[in-house]
Amino acid sequence: MRLKRQKTYKRYMGVYQHSFGFREPYQIIVDGNFIKVAQNSRLDYKSMLQETVVGKTRIMTTNCVVNELRTLGEDFMGAALAAKRLEKRRCPHGGNPVNAAECIKEIIGDTNQFNYCVATQDLTLRDYLRRIPGIPLIYINRSVMILEPPSPATTNKVKEIEHNKTIPTNYENTIIQKNTETPDEAPKSKKRKGPKQPNPLSCKKKKVNPAQQNQNKKKKNEEEKEKEEENIEVEKPKKRRRRRNKKKNNAGNSNEENNNNTNENENENEDDNDNDNDNIKRFVI
Ligand SMILES: [Zn+2]
Repeated sequence: MRLKRQKTYKRYMGVYQHSFGFREPYQIIVDGNFIKVAQNSRLDYKSMLQETVVGKTRIMTTNCVVNELRTLGEDFMGAALAAKRLEKRRCPHGGNPVNAAECIKEIIGDTNQFNYCVATQDLTLRDYLRRIPGIPLIYINRSVMILEPPSPATTNKVKEIEHNKTIPTNYENTIIQKNTETPDEAPKSKKRKGPKQPNPLSCKKKKVNPAQQNQNKKKKNEEEKEKEEENIEVEKPKKRRRRRNKKKNNAGNSNEENNNNTNENENENEDDNDNDNDNIKRFVI
């Protein structure tokens, strides 16, 4: 079987499964014509039926079908023997066998309660069964087994079933009525445990106008300048003190030197430099 055809047949059987409750193994009622055509075409109809319905099968026939094949003469003896070996589905006719088509119609009934598939070459029987929703119909055409697409009656029934699924049941209606009569009280506002304001780290910064930004920058620059000036003013007196100290030291040294050499007082600046150098040397030592 072609893959594409198998896919379509699987889809068809899916419709019967979901909407009508068909389950494996699928029960297939076979009539005499179908068996005869299969034998003439030398088809292994049992395995082909499994491929057609894409699943396990339970092939069966009725006593009425076997009796009909026996009455048709020697040409149908092979078909009669094959039908006899199949599983028999009990029919209400018992000792008074009827036409095979009539027998199958009675077994199917109005609703196909027991989920039977029907494999038949009888056109009138198939036409009749198409009017009843939920019956997969199988026939052989030029040694190819074909599963008919779901009939209009079946598709309409499927739509109806799907629509009924959306309608609330009696139990659901009672619940709806209760809820409408006594509406629930307004839910109490729960206390928030976390911080009242959003986490500032997770928020975007507020946008500031460019004019305001410039003003703020200017202010900052001015403040920084003022601070720097203050620092300089604060630092200056320290330098003076150092210089004064240095001068004092120099003066002390110069006095000592004055005692030794009075000529050196004339060039104080030079002495200062020398003393500075001496001080640096001392620190180094
Ligand atoms: Zn019967």
